[in-house]
Amino acid sequence: MIEIVGREALLRKRKRAEFSDEEVATVRKIITRVKEDGDQALVAFTKQFDGVKLNSLHVEEAELAEAAQAVEPKLMTALRHAAERIRRFHEKQLTASWIMEEADGTILGQRVHPLERVGVYVPGGRAVYPSTVLMNVIPAVVAGVKEVVMVTPPQPDGSIPAATLAAAKVAGVNRVVKVGGAQAVAALAYGTASVPKVDKIVGPGNRFVALAKQLVFGEVDIDSVAGPSEIVVIADETADPVFVAADLLSQAEHGEDSSAILITTSDDLAANVQTEVARQCKQLERGRIAQTALERYGAITVVGDLQEAAELSNQLAPEHLELMVADPWSLLGRIRHAGAVFLGPYSTEPLGDYVAGPNHVLPTAGTARFFSPLGVDHFLKKSSLLCYGKEALLRDGPQAMALAEAEGLGAHAAAIRVRLEREGAKGR
Ligand code: NAD
Repeated sequence: MIEIVGREALLRKRKRAEFSDEEVATVRKIITRVKEDGDQALVAFTKQFDGVKLNSLHVEEAELAEAAQAVEPKLMTALRHAAERIRRFHEKQLTASWIMEEADGTILGQRVHPLERVGVYVPGGRAVYPSTVLMNVIPAVVAGVKEVVMVTPPQPDGSIPAATLAAAKVAGVNRVVKVGGAQAVAALAYGTASVPKVDKIVGPGNRFVALAKQLVFGEVDIDSVAGPSEIVVIADETADPVFVAADLLSQAEHGEDSSAILITTSDDLAANVQTEVARQCKQLERGRIAQTALERYGAITVVGDLQEAAELSNQLAPEHLELMVADPWSLLGRIRHAGAVFLGPYSTEPLGDYVAGPNHVLPTAGTARFFSPLGVDHFLKKSSLLCYGKEALLRDGPQAMALAEAEGLGAHAAAIRVRLEREGAKGR
């Protein structure tokens, strides 16, 4: 089910479907309706797509508190444990404002402010994702965002799963609204009576959600548009085929468009992993999904040495990269493009999905070449600070005027000249 292929065939496996014109038209229509009809459109779309007629879109504070009581204590403990580790990791990312003072008294600096209000999309639909809540909300709270609004589609009985609400409570969400899909994204971008307009929308979702985020970008900021999940494992002859196969399958089970790739220096390991994937896949509840994903976007390729493996992996720039080799720390030096790197046999990728602490929202589809994992920085913005004194104006003014004149911007030059003249210096 997972083929052993050459390097060229492996690189061809990257191609994914793009948004169709029909999908774009559908989502545009939804956005326009929400802009025009507000809550009324949200209620109507929720009936159409989620099969439930809601009287109120709000989740009350009491419902949030009850959810924490309703979930299994084992899950509550895991949520709190994960939240604490995620919080600790993200606190390291905080950046402070700074100023620098020059000898003549000029003060320059950078002020850092959290965004005021952020929207977090949490997928509903076919599954429950409490880890998505933690990973998207905690960096915003650590950054100091004042209000985090979570949107998620209701279930057919009109409720939100208790695990999702419990995670929202643990993470520090301020308001939960029962709405999903493109309509939820539109509501966050433009505001309705029930959904306040936000400054930024983060969080994964299906194609309608991803497309809506792309279309409202500019009205609000968004995180990156997440593509299907991916893993690359680089393994040498010392790797355990049982571990490698399990980790490839752990990504493949996400969806039929997930990608799982093994790059190895060992023919024996390649063959053993191939056998092991087939064996383990039969035992998985989501084995059918994993099998389809591996047939479409999975591959094993054998390379000459680890240098070649690292180069190939850099070309793929995967979302997740596992180094299951004798000396992963020395191989790390050759890795330049990956969303998250997992070193050694025990650092299996699902630890990063849930509890390790680093964010699991990572760049996909080769965008690790230029994007970074979701983090506190995504919820901060900066302004520059400039304070000139007379002496510094006399030094820099003429230079600025020369540049302004070269650009043909006379008023720019004049704004400096009037000050220089006031000081008795010669404005040019
Ligand atoms: P979802 O919440 O993303 O989408 C459900 C909504 O889609 C519905 O409420 C509805 O409004 C809308 N919708 C459905 N059919 C529609 C149609 N025909 N026209 C217009 N709108 C329609 O939930 P989902 O569909 O289960 O998808 C969840 C996605 O999120 C999956 O692709 C999953 O892999 C992904 N995910 C990613 C991560 C991550 O971290 N990258 C985490 C969790 C989930």
